[in-house]
Amino acid sequence: MFLRFVAFWLLVGMLIGAVGAQAEQKRLPNFVIIFTDDQGFADVGCFGAQGFETPHLDRMAREGRRFTNFVVAAAVCSASRVALLTGCYPQRVGILGALPPRSGVGIHSREVLIPELLKQRGYATCIVGKWHLGDHPKFLPLQHGFDEYFGLPFSNDMWPHHPQTNVFPPLPLIHNNRVVAVNPDQHYLTTWYTEYAVDFIRRHRDRPFFLYVAHNMPHVPLFVSEKFRGKTKRGLYGDVIMEIDWSVGQILNTLRELDLDKHTLVIFTSDNGPWLSYGNHAGSAGPFREGKGTTWEGGHREPCIMWWPGRIPAGTVCEEFCCTMDILPTLAYLAGAELPKHKIDGHNIWPLISGQPGAKSPWKAFYYYYYGYELQAVRSGRWKLHFPHRYRTLDGPPGRDGLPGRYKIVRTELALYDLKTDPGERHNVADQYPEVVRRLQKLAQIARRDLGDTLTGHKGKGVRPPERVEW
Ligand code: MG
Repeated sequence: MFLRFVAFWLLVGMLIGAVGAQAEQKRLPNFVIIFTDDQGFADVGCFGAQGFETPHLDRMAREGRRFTNFVVAAAVCSASRVALLTGCYPQRVGILGALPPRSGVGIHSREVLIPELLKQRGYATCIVGKWHLGDHPKFLPLQHGFDEYFGLPFSNDMWPHHPQTNVFPPLPLIHNNRVVAVNPDQHYLTTWYTEYAVDFIRRHRDRPFFLYVAHNMPHVPLFVSEKFRGKTKRGLYGDVIMEIDWSVGQILNTLRELDLDKHTLVIFTSDNGPWLSYGNHAGSAGPFREGKGTTWEGGHREPCIMWWPGRIPAGTVCEEFCCTMDILPTLAYLAGAELPKHKIDGHNIWPLISGQPGAKSPWKAFYYYYYGYELQAVRSGRWKLHFPHRYRTLDGPPGRDGLPGRYKIVRTELALYDLKTDPGERHNVADQYPEVVRRLQKLAQIARRDLGDTLTGHKGKGVRPPERVEW
């Protein structure tokens, strides 16, 4: 009798255990993307920062995985952001460059953004920070799958205090669909965003969530709260990055405290390289050439760290090529969400993120477009071919203390670089590898037919127009 009693309760215990394990397995992961603005490749401690420290990001890297060959799809704000959120080249969805206030275009309602995709699976969704994908009420985040929005609708320099122009109207701070302040005190942007993000996590600890924290910093004009003012040798730029680092720490600590760390993938990266004309108010691209607004690696290559204790191998580095467009299909895979019916450009890179042995980059070719539809370069593996094109470079000394220096426009000829041995794109080896040049030229033809190219007069067949609106 006693044995039967024990056997019964053992069985009950096993059943409960099995159900619990199943629930655990079926529990959908949370996703947090932290996306800074104009931060250079070398502007994180573990990516080689000088003159300031980033203890929280460095810890995130020690507990997670660093990506050293991670790029954005465009070296400028709006285009880069639309690629992250739609998994498509900006040219495919028609959101290009940096949209001005009262923009006449926005993301078309047919496009599917990460939050819309995750809503199929019951996720709570929130964006804190910079949107910059159309500021008409019709285009704001709540109309594109986000449940909550708190932040600026475009860049923080598009306001009446711009150092060089007075064309900009007062800068709105928006909560959901409502303007709650104009020309807010930017010293507190990073603090406010962090508090909102932490509160969102606390409010949604019991259900899957997607949180997109798009800091306005370190885009000029730089502002930092008194918590970090004067804290670094590097000056204001270093102070600003240390405050962003503090913000990352607040988010990760909240996840740890709520026991959500084993259920949350956190991705940290930035939208484009440093705005070099701002001198001591700009970041550093480290070994890479040029910065924001160019198709050289300094414009596109970003520091990237991914963290998910127990799922991502701690303290590892991924050197395989991947990019922001891969995030949408990867999150869709992890959440069991259906991909959009239309064509997207990114790939599921979970094998790279989870460190599967021998995992390789799924990218056969990657295309570097400048602002509009000008195809300036193509990359395949270690090779990058620049077509003859114009680009901006500093003309004399850079600016100081919030005032920019001058750029001049110069030109590159057809140039092949081996990014493996020459990451700084200094030695043109086109003459030595004519067959590589031919192969990359063929790959470029595919992009021209699909996405277009104003340099060669191609109109892309795979382009979907954005939505237009009259103000
Ligand atoms: Mg930017």
